[in-house]
Amino acid sequence: MAAASAGCKQSDHQKLNGSPLFKRQLLRRLPHRCRLCGGAARGIGLCPHCRADLPWLPAPRCPICALPSEDGQICGACLSHPPAWQCTRSALLYDFPVDGLIGALKYRGDLSLAPLLADCLAGVLDGAAVDAILPLPLHPARLAARGYNQAMELARPLARRFHLPLVHAAVQRVRDTPPQAGLDRAARLKNLRGAFLARPELVSGLRIAVLDDVMTSGATLGELTRTLKQAGAVAVECWVVARALPPGQT
Ligand SMILES: [Zn+2]
Ligand SMILES: [Zn+2]
Repeated sequence: MAAASAGCKQSDHQKLNGSPLFKRQLLRRLPHRCRLCGGAARGIGLCPHCRADLPWLPAPRCPICALPSEDGQICGACLSHPPAWQCTRSALLYDFPVDGLIGALKYRGDLSLAPLLADCLAGVLDGAAVDAILPLPLHPARLAARGYNQAMELARPLARRFHLPLVHAAVQRVRDTPPQAGLDRAARLKNLRGAFLARPELVSGLRIAVLDDVMTSGATLGELTRTLKQAGAVAVECWVVARALPPGQT
């Protein structure tokens, strides 16, 4: 009986250790140390020196895709293939050490990094006029395997800070698309067609910010934007923590 009870306790303990809620509560009680150098961190997880040293996205940028552009004009790529969204707001280049921080949040369950990364993004959101935030949905199979959606973890602190509702139930990812890497533009678009299903009653008439960790080609966010607009959303902005530069652009 005692052994069975101990076994039960241990398994409960293991379960709690793996729970994102438990992890969040535990990490809130830990002293604030810089996640990059271990020094004293003010606020949420970075010391002032490491925060200043992050690869902040340089200005001027194209307002549509957030990539560097001369005089902040719309870039050639956005002129020749205008995306469905209105603008992209991003804070950081997807480069060292941001790639490592996002990787730890996304693949290693380090949810304490979400408020830190969301705080970086918050700095470029002043003046944004949206009605709701939609974290990029994961396919249910991927959500079950990972246990959380990193975009949702990033969206929560921003929703609280800007007093915006999260409309995560508005869109479902109905197809788990194969990885996009290595595909050309046309193949990426075909690969994503019909990946999302929106509920018009939850998005119609709204200006929506779709939130993700990184924008690479923008194909996934483009397909989500098209789905939202077909469902009646009046405007869509992309909010991404980091922007990956296209190959060959440095
Ligand atoms: Zn530091
Ligand atoms: Zn552009």
